[in-house]
Amino acid sequence: MLAETGASVFVSDAGQIDRNTTDLFDAHGINWESGVHTASALNCEAMVLSPGVPTEAAIVQEAISIQRSVLSEIEVAFRHCAADIVAITGSNGKTTTTTLTGHILEYATRDTSRHVFVAGNIGAAFSDIALTAGPQDVVVLEVSSFQLDHIRLFRPRVSVILNITPDHLDRYGGDFHAYASSKLRVYENQRTDDVLVVNGDDELLRDITTTTDGPRRLTISLREEVAEGGFLAGDEMIIRVNNKEMRMPTEDLPLRGRHNLYNSLAAAVAARAMEVRSDVIRESIASFQGVPHRLEFVRELDGVRYYNDSKATNVNAVWYALESFTEPIVLIAGGRDKGNDYSSLRQLVRRRVRTLIALGESAEEIEAELGPEASRAVRVDSMDAAVQTARIVAEEGDVVLLSPACASFDMFENYEHRGDTFKKLVGSL
Ligand code: ADP
Repeated sequence: MLAETGASVFVSDAGQIDRNTTDLFDAHGINWESGVHTASALNCEAMVLSPGVPTEAAIVQEAISIQRSVLSEIEVAFRHCAADIVAITGSNGKTTTTTLTGHILEYATRDTSRHVFVAGNIGAAFSDIALTAGPQDVVVLEVSSFQLDHIRLFRPRVSVILNITPDHLDRYGGDFHAYASSKLRVYENQRTDDVLVVNGDDELLRDITTTTDGPRRLTISLREEVAEGGFLAGDEMIIRVNNKEMRMPTEDLPLRGRHNLYNSLAAAVAARAMEVRSDVIRESIASFQGVPHRLEFVRELDGVRYYNDSKATNVNAVWYALESFTEPIVLIAGGRDKGNDYSSLRQLVRRRVRTLIALGESAEEIEAELGPEASRAVRVDSMDAAVQTARIVAEEGDVVLLSPACASFDMFENYEHRGDTFKKLVGSL
């Protein structure tokens, strides 16, 4: 993007850059170095960081010490982008909320010349689409705290902070406050005609106040009614923005689980803030297919519903997954264990899991820890065997759930590969 705008660009990567990429650099007259950062990287007006590079990196510290301006990729893309931005950040739920918000806005603009781009940590980088997005377009951006560390002018029209829980503390020297502060920067440049959406049930976010020249604050909550924003009343989600109220029965929400109520509320409030009509929001949310590998519905066969939650690579995610169903569950779990403590799952497994199918490197441990809580436990050595076993043991009305609580690298390239394998096998039952 920068080369296209006429900037003189030098790429410095401490890792190896693959041949296709260096060919691309050469074709665009971009100089580069790989395997090392030399002093050439400091010979610049501004240093733009890839989100993978920590501020503590020696080359970044050197740049700061000689007063180079250090900017994140979203900051630079923002300066070249004419479109309105909806920026979504938080510790959990970013991808789901960003995808759902993108879906609503795409639905709302489907018969218009307005384009909606979904970018950031998900799919295309912001800088890949920044020049293409025009003034009447919208960019829905998934933003990580690393990207917010080096912003200056970045100013979304709507920003959303879903929640703040300890995560990635390794990048902030174990300092929760520093991590939380960087997430809060998403709205630091917003003005009165912009909107900030925050989760009022989050201990840290509930006390955020905005100044009179800052953005309008809208709140989402599952616990209480809010003056402006979105909340639950009985079996209905209520969105109250610009003195208008929109209602939607929660049973019409395709995303299951309590955590997804937050994500749905946040997306609906953000869409209302972007002036999307209520009926369009209702229709588009109802038609949302979910995000692959996150409690993704695969198929129904003989009254059994199959779900792929391959992204659930830790115990907490499995907890949310189990909590999302009232039906008896056949749970397929296991993989590469990162020192998991499964004890927090015991109670839910006892209440919900009919059969536990343990798979992968951690099969033995999972079977030992959680097997006694389930009505039945089986150990298998392949995803094929897991799916075949599930097919045999599941009864009409059950849910078969792949929610591994573990990384996938013992048997698969990544969690997508694991989920795709599961889906293919379920598809061919
Ligand atoms: P992120 O992009 O922030 O990693 P995802 O949308 O990919 O989030 O969801 C990852 C996992 O986080 C989900 O499988 C679910 O277990 C959990 N999760 C999703 N939304 C929320 C939320 N609002 N609050 C808490 N946990 C959530």
